[in-house]
Amino acid sequence: MKNLRTYIALCALILFIFGIQAIALASVPLRVSIKFILDANGNRPVSGNLNTNAEVNAEVDSGNSILRTTYTEDQIQLIEFVDLSGVSQHFTANIYNDTQFNALRTAAENDPATYHWRTDSINIYINGGAGSARGSFPPGNQYILMNQWCGNTPSCILHEIGHNLNLMHTHEPCCTNQDECSDTITDNSGWTKDQVAQNNFGATYANLNASQKNQVDLVYNNVMSYHTDEPQLRLSTCQRGRVSTQNYTDRSWMLGRTPIHVNKFAPFCGILQNGSFSFPYCTLQSALNAGGLNNGVLVLEQGAYTMTQETINANVEIVTRSGASTVDRGVQLWILPVDLASSTNPAVAGAVKAAQDEDTAERTILREALTLAEKAAGPEEKSVIRAETEVRAGIHRANAIKMLHEAERYATGDEKLAVQLELAQRYRQAGNCVLAEKYYGLVATATDQSALREEALRRSKQCSAETNTSQ
Ligand SMILES: [Zn+2]
Repeated sequence: MKNLRTYIALCALILFIFGIQAIALASVPLRVSIKFILDANGNRPVSGNLNTNAEVNAEVDSGNSILRTTYTEDQIQLIEFVDLSGVSQHFTANIYNDTQFNALRTAAENDPATYHWRTDSINIYINGGAGSARGSFPPGNQYILMNQWCGNTPSCILHEIGHNLNLMHTHEPCCTNQDECSDTITDNSGWTKDQVAQNNFGATYANLNASQKNQVDLVYNNVMSYHTDEPQLRLSTCQRGRVSTQNYTDRSWMLGRTPIHVNKFAPFCGILQNGSFSFPYCTLQSALNAGGLNNGVLVLEQGAYTMTQETINANVEIVTRSGASTVDRGVQLWILPVDLASSTNPAVAGAVKAAQDEDTAERTILREALTLAEKAAGPEEKSVIRAETEVRAGIHRANAIKMLHEAERYATGDEKLAVQLELAQRYRQAGNCVLAEKYYGLVATATDQSALREEALRRSKQCSAETNTSQ
């Protein structure tokens, strides 16, 4: 037994040292189909910004570089180049002309074979028009028309896809927050950088402090701005949130893989979770336990995550979002029984089974609430659902604890320790540090495993600190 423990501790240490770094190249593929509309002679335009495959590829590469450096989970996946002949009536369709812009889309949807219109990707049509480029907002966000003279650099394609993903211009005059993002300051497409500084902070750019300069840069160098005298490389936190939200809505057709979001700091963490951007799993292990991983991408919001299983038996990738993330395999330092419902002591087995039934009932309530919350209109409605759910789920949570106390009465040896550790953890999760400390203390006193004793004492100390800082 001792040898086995030493072996486990050694393996654990090695795994800890070789913690897996989230792989930077994995991504959520955003499917894009490029169609060149040919003229009556079957030719592409001879001049322009986007009349060769190389020019398109360069814009896609730049766009992907921006998505990577802004820690967005997406990467543009170019699935094809198609030269479209026989539709030269659209060769000079201009994006500024609503009738021409809409006519191409309508024709394509009505005759998908001729126009190579796809329902499983964004359709980008490039023609010989003398305008710039225009994307379509959701719903109906499968369409972009690009003329040859789009000035957004280095990636007009990314700018247009931004519209498909529900991003507005930073200078949009439509709304209270202009672009509906409160983390981008007031912008006007005609302003210089100094004017953006002046109109927001009352001083020229050179006289701003570092934080103010950063806010000006975020707008002036934004992918969705019109300030083309500097490269447009940036996306705000709010903008990335809008992208991730739209991605999830359109995941069945727009994405090559399904994102499964994990965010340890999510506001609904541990209450409502289904892997969407709005309701992410709050631990990596809970995402793994939920299953349905095949052809998915685990999107880890910046932070350190742990998985307690050794391998993932599914076709799934891992990508980080908002900043770097790490994944460590869990460290097993002690041995305690887990399947107490199979205890040879019938009183223990019965009580544990009853606790499990209460846990299952709680999960059912949470699952149903999640379905309701997803359909909810706004944050207020979501808050009401959350509050009601907490009350109903709380009853089962409390019953489960009662049953665990029942199990504790009859259990002995390591089974008793396992129940007491579980009680300590449940009280800790509930923010009841007095009882958490009591049960961690009982475990620490009774166990002969030094790692378990140390960990129980450490968690006991952490409880108060955690309760003070958690949301
Ligand atoms: Zn635009």
